[in-house]
Formats: sequence, structure tokens, C-alpha cells
Amino acid sequence: MTSKVMNKDIEICQECNIEIDCNKDSIFIITKGEEERLWCHWCFEDLWKEYSDNGWAGDDIEYYLELEKEDD
Ligand SMILES: [Zn+2]
Repeated sequence: MTSKVMNKDIEICQECNIEIDCNKDSIFIITKGEEERLWCHWCFEDLWKEYSDNGWAGDDIEYYLELEKEDD
């Protein structure tokens, strides 16, 4: 367990370490097997496609993939 006390409504982006206020901002979670990544909106936008290509999945990735299909 981490000794750092965290407000339960604050998550930390695992990419850029920004604090995400869950009451105001979206958090994005993707998974691959046992692994999990929690990202802020900006990192997700930058990275989701690369990770999707590498086998990561999640509701947020599926949503973005659907959006891309509609663009075709
Ligand atoms: Zn981030």
C-alpha cells in the first residue's frame, strides 16, 4: 500500500502524473490482461491508438474506434 494519502475523488494520470479531479474531468482506464492504465483525457487522446494496436482494450478505446469508423 502506498503511504500517500489521497482524496478519493482525485486520481493521478499514470502517464503525465497530473491530478485528475473525477468530479470535473474524465478519467480513462484501459486494460491488457492483468495490466491497467489510468490516464487523463489528454494522454488518452495521444496514446489510445498506439496502445489499441498493441492489444490494450477498454470501453473508452471501443468508443474512439467507433468514432473513427464513422469518419470513414
Ligand atoms: Zn496524463
